[in-house]
Amino acid sequence: MSNQAWLERSFAAVWHPCTQMKRHERLPIVPIASADGVWLTDFDGKRYLDGVSSWWVNLFGHGHPRIKQAVRKQLDSLEHVMLAGFTHRPVVELSERLAALSGLGHAFYGSDGASATEIALKMSFHYWKNVGRPQKTRFVSLENSYHGETVGALAVTDVPLFSSTYAELLKPGLRAPSPDARQAVPGERAADVALRAARSLENLLAKHGGEIAAVIVEPLVQGAAGMAMHDPIYLTELRRLCDQYQVHLIADEIAVGFGRTGSFFAYQQAGITPDFLCLSKGITGGFLPLSCVLTRDEIYQAFYHDDVARGFLHSHSYTGNALACAAALAVLDIFDDEDVLEANRVKAEGFTRQMRPLAERPEIRHFRQRGMIWAFDVDTARSDFALAYFSAMLNRGCLLRPIGKSVYFMPPYTLKSEEMDWLASASVDALDEVLAGESVGGDPTALP
Ligand SMILES: *Cc1c(COP(=O)(O)O)cnc(C)c1O
Repeated sequence: MSNQAWLERSFAAVWHPCTQMKRHERLPIVPIASADGVWLTDFDGKRYLDGVSSWWVNLFGHGHPRIKQAVRKQLDSLEHVMLAGFTHRPVVELSERLAALSGLGHAFYGSDGASATEIALKMSFHYWKNVGRPQKTRFVSLENSYHGETVGALAVTDVPLFSSTYAELLKPGLRAPSPDARQAVPGERAADVALRAARSLENLLAKHGGEIAAVIVEPLVQGAAGMAMHDPIYLTELRRLCDQYQVHLIADEIAVGFGRTGSFFAYQQAGITPDFLCLSKGITGGFLPLSCVLTRDEIYQAFYHDDVARGFLHSHSYTGNALACAAALAVLDIFDDEDVLEANRVKAEGFTRQMRPLAERPEIRHFRQRGMIWAFDVDTARSDFALAYFSAMLNRGCLLRPIGKSVYFMPPYTLKSEEMDWLASASVDALDEVLAGESVGGDPTALP
């Protein structure tokens, strides 16, 4: 069957995520028949370079042989068993290895990022009840934060397009300024912006600390904000303030964990440890849905009691799925055996050089990079920039999805230098085309 037939059937029967479906009257849905490495292939044989690791999950591209093999092997013994009251080899090994990597010895599983956020929020809230401080019920999140779209997670997400419709459903939280380095005024460094944001947070904690359970942050890079990056000193300050005001620090590393920012976990660049660590997206290399919340012993102990209701009774049917855990173990094996962090460091330096012609374009603002993430903002009056750029790149065989007027690259770690050359030159061409064109209307943020 052709692309056209699949996209028509999808348009009729599938309600696609994060999408105004009517947009697809004009912009075709892209049916994918197969994928290999960094390439997606449609039903007509056209290839697309996956420049965003399929929403930031396919760390090692598609169909990585080691992960595939691990899932196949696991299939022969155990695909799934409920995790309440039962256990299995992959979930035990994964929990031990994540504990060794993070220093957080207790692993609680979910199936997607938003459920990890929910788990961390509920655990923090419940901890304070269990230790006799039930007035600590509020959460602080940062401006332009994104922590998922279930009702609890949406309350700590600051993307009005996603949340304002549901305002009456959401428990209002407190919001602190973002340490986004783009806010630097002339003469200021990224660290100055970070320290300024930390001072505002301190005022908030000084005033409301007694009612605050936790501060939740995306360490180093606020992804959905358009890859807003900040100096690690913000996290160092945040840790100090959380200790001082007895507030939990929740690190949402759903997007930035697993080496994306250059260290295995982003918070490690600040020399700190969070109280809760949320992981998902890259955890299985894009093979299966899985998320995990790690926490430390003192928090775990506050739930450990003869009273059932003091326990953390949260659950999901697929919690700790054996196939997903096996895929995650294979991801950790690849990190160990191939020294991925060091290889990425060398690669990222090269990629940044290759992107120089793009970075030096006059319409580009705030070209930025951290680890295997690159982003820049485009100075254009086109209100439909994101959609136009997405389409122009798709025509050139590349998958890039700008967020508003921020274009970003979040490629699989397996991207080769010649592929990056090609991606960078396609980006320049697409920019020429889009900037020469006229806006056809539409809002800048809502991409199909
Ligand atoms: C994607 C993401 C989430 C939500 O994860 P889902 O699996 O989409 O529910 C939460 N936090 C951050 C930082 C994310 O990037």
